Amino acid sequence: MVLIIGAGIGGLTLALKLHSLGVASRIYEAVPKIKSLGVGINILPHAMRELCHLGLEQDIALNSVETQEVQFFNRFGQHIFTDNRGRFGGYEWPQYSIHRGVLQSILLEAVIQRLGHEAVVTNHRLIDLKQTETEVQAIFEIAADKTSQVKVLGDVLIGCDGIHSTVRRKLNPKNDPLVYSGITMWRGVTKWPGFLTGATMIYAGWLQTGKVIAYPIEKADVDGNQLINWLCEFYCSSQKGEGDWGKPGELKDFIWSCDEMNFNWLDIPAMIKRAEFIFEYPMVDRNPLAKWTKERVTLLGDAAHPMYPRGSNGAGQAILDAVDLAKRLSSKVMHQEALELYEHERRPRTTEVVHANRTVPPDAILKEVYDRTGDKPFDEIEDIIKRDELELIANNYKTIAGFDRTSLET
Ligand SMILES: Cc1cc2nc3c(=O)[nH]c(=O)nc-3n(C[C@H](O)[C@H](O)[C@H](O)COP(=O)(O)OP(=O)(O)OC[C@H]3O[C@@H](n4cnc5c(N)ncnc54)[C@H](O)[C@@H]3O)c2cc1C
Repeated sequence: MVLIIGAGIGGLTLALKLHSLGVASRIYEAVPKIKSLGVGINILPHAMRELCHLGLEQDIALNSVETQEVQFFNRFGQHIFTDNRGRFGGYEWPQYSIHRGVLQSILLEAVIQRLGHEAVVTNHRLIDLKQTETEVQAIFEIAADKTSQVKVLGDVLIGCDGIHSTVRRKLNPKNDPLVYSGITMWRGVTKWPGFLTGATMIYAGWLQTGKVIAYPIEKADVDGNQLINWLCEFYCSSQKGEGDWGKPGELKDFIWSCDEMNFNWLDIPAMIKRAEFIFEYPMVDRNPLAKWTKERVTLLGDAAHPMYPRGSNGAGQAILDAVDLAKRLSSKVMHQEALELYEHERRPRTTEVVHANRTVPPDAILKEVYDRTGDKPFDEIEDIIKRDELELIANNYKTIAGFDRTSLET
């Protein structure tokens, strides 16, 4: 029995993939009820390939927007570059923009349908674990009654318990703090008239003065309105908060940074001011670990490699981890060896993504133009930077994160 700690994107995908390969698992989740939390995320073609193999594309397509392109602008609304995405970019696999909670619900429903209700045990917060030569013991606290504990035995235990992972802390008790990037972001969703293709993701501005990302995560209603996911981010002098995805944010703390971004096809400040709610999130990660696995226990997703939430890779890398680990656990090798082989494959790859998100993120194009223009409007983008160079920068990130077209054709 594989004990999976955490019913987030990684844990649920792992249970589905293990089931498809004939391996028994059970998920233990801390919260009493799994609610539709978070805002928008993108499922890139590398992760979509795996979700398609799991038979989930139809449900995802019905409840999301198939992303056509990413358009980059400076803060004056001047167009820099268009990057066609998913099938619109010649990939075999699509890219979808979706509410995180909706994706989680789709995965959860699939787990319950395929594995049964008993496969997801809520209200169980892992507080400790012990290992012997033959098994692993997980110790849970029951949320409603903190005095009672439950002990469960399994063959292996996989920590899919997110950026504040208890499993990671148990394996690496020392010196593993959150690392603040110096960037804070404010995020939210607004029902707003669709813009550009109605399936376009935009990046505008740069971090010195304020950068905005916006994309629709629901199809248009009869009035042409869509649920738009937006985020606004910039360099801040100090970190506030500890990476709590649910921390409320305030308009006054950031709206000035995008006040002039009223483009003729989208009035960004007006859209943000009509948000249903605002979250504030410091862009944090942790330094990559030298080891994920200890005997019968390993880490997956944000627990293994928390990364800055840029480049749409948090969920994507968790999905790729889950598929790789499930394949290893279903193979003929011993459990411990399966975990080691998984770590051997996935740790170097995800370490590269953690570093890329710190140094050469997917929107490095915007920094390049910001630096070369001195944050001034340009006459022709070709005078500033050639298309070949823009493509090179965009493709560099895709290759590191494993979603360049060539890698996905194999
Ligand atoms: C509430 C929430 C909102 C989020 N919102 C966004 C967002 O808007 N945009 C974005 O890009 N990313 C968001 N994320 C992060 C994003 O989901 C992850 O980066 C990515 O999907 C990787 O998934 P994961 O499965 O590794 O971790 P997560 O999706 O974070 O899932 C971890 C799960 O483990 C559970 N857990 C934690 N500790 C324990 C424990 N001790 N015992 C048992 N269970 C435990 C958590 O409750 C959670 O369900 C959010 C995460 C959470 C938990």
